[in-house]
Amino acid sequence: MAPGDRTVLLLGGSTEATQLARLAAASPEVTLNVSFAGRTAARAPMPDGVVVRVGGFGGPDGLQRHLESNAIEALVDATHPFSARMPFNAAAAALAAGIPRVRVLRPPWTPQAGDRWTAVLSVTEAAAAVEASGARNVLLTIGRQELAPFAACGRARLVARCIDPPEAGVLDRAEIILARGPFAVEDEVELLRRHDIDLVVSKNAGGAATEAKLAAARRLGLPVVMVQRPPVPAGPTVPTPADAMAWLDGVLLASVDR
Ligand code: NAP
Repeated sequence: MAPGDRTVLLLGGSTEATQLARLAAASPEVTLNVSFAGRTAARAPMPDGVVVRVGGFGGPDGLQRHLESNAIEALVDATHPFSARMPFNAAAAALAAGIPRVRVLRPPWTPQAGDRWTAVLSVTEAAAAVEASGARNVLLTIGRQELAPFAACGRARLVARCIDPPEAGVLDRAEIILARGPFAVEDEVELLRRHDIDLVVSKNAGGAATEAKLAAARRLGLPVVMVQRPPVPAGPTVPTPADAMAWLDGVLLASVDR
């Protein structure tokens, strides 16, 4: 097998995707293509030799055409745990193109003793829970793209923490804090106290980088409205980039042996 003659497509959008890109790019037999939706202003830099493309494929059929015309041999879906559509598109396209696919999905957070979580199924439900709670000062840690439903929360003062600023007009009355994790528990406690927060809204993203807010809420006895993850397609799922790399080695080796 010549070096770099196995082409793999990695669907990015998560921390794990960036870590996996570094691992896969170091593999001499793999040519790595990475695809981003193009939502974030600043993307993590990719290692030399990685082919980067940005933007949607045009649904599962478009992705299937992309897989076939670029002779992709394996598809690694490392989109974010809250990516609702792309994992299903990836599953359908890989099946139609006849190539193996895996999802990289970090485990969700689970409540611990002392946690006061209310589970909801969507951001819209989270906004309804905020309004019903009677909370006075609410910290929103759900990113910037789904803030609109909280415009209906007329009573509470809203503080939204996001990496990039939300679009003008989406939730103008919220106080915006721009920050990127990882966050430390002590800093999160200080943030909650400084803003007199009495309710935290979070998506169950999982992972260590943004988990500290949950420990801070636990320490201060604060309730958390926790948005559950969207459904995932059937098929292989691995929790870490290292596991994805092992999966990739296995399927590429198996296709050589056939
Ligand atoms: P989504 O509902 O799963 O995807 C919507 C559409 O965006 C897809 O149908 C696809 O368009 C395009 N797309 C998504 N991921 C792509 C990728 N890696 N490469 C090329 N096109 C992609 O996802 P979303 O919630 O809109 O999120 C968009 C991106 O932001 C994803 O990559 C996701 O991993 C990342 N992200 C999402 C969240 C979140 O909370 N939702 C948080 C952090 C990061 P076509 O159908 O045209 O191919």
